[in-house]
Amino acid sequence: MFPPPWLTLILDSKFYEDCDEHEGTLCNFFCIDCSDVFCESCKQEHDDEGHKVLQVYKASRHNALRVIHIFGLLDISDIHKYSFNGFKVVFLHSRNKVHKCQANATYKCQICGYELLDLSKFFSRGSFKFCSLACKVKDTMISEGDLSIEMPSLATNKSDEPCQCNPKRRRKGIPIRSPFF
Ligand SMILES: [Zn+2]
Ligand SMILES: [Zn+2]
Ligand SMILES: [Zn+2]
Repeated sequence: MFPPPWLTLILDSKFYEDCDEHEGTLCNFFCIDCSDVFCESCKQEHDDEGHKVLQVYKASRHNALRVIHIFGLLDISDIHKYSFNGFKVVFLHSRNKVHKCQANATYKCQICGYELLDLSKFFSRGSFKFCSLACKVKDTMISEGDLSIEMPSLATNKSDEPCQCNPKRRRKGIPIRSPFF
């Protein structure tokens, strides 16, 4: 069954904040059994109880889970994996910054439009559908008709903000000549 209740909770949780009980330590663990966020020092209690505890990593400033830690817990076959410090991770949330120049990307997240790498060369099943666990959860909610889920607005991202990706773009109307002649 997707998503399991703990997944929605981990997506709503804040990580890397100070632990109330242990000064100077940050909370980057999540217990599936307690649905609680805590620091490494707090973790022992959950280990002693035999709880399933996940470590949340910061990869490129975004929260991520290691693929190997959620293997068998979640179906992440259609979520894009990234390589981080030599291991594979999936992001919890969408980066949600879709540039205009990504709008034409061949492979993008079906929910937020974030550009995904074309991995069809490497995987016979083709490319991934989602950039993050949150986008896959949203997709499930939409297909089940749960409209209470807040949708990321692609329309807002496609606003008239100038795209910084290609600042030297030529103005319309000027004939384009090859720079090699
Ligand atoms: Zn603590
Ligand atoms: Zn626990
Ligand atoms: Zn996405």
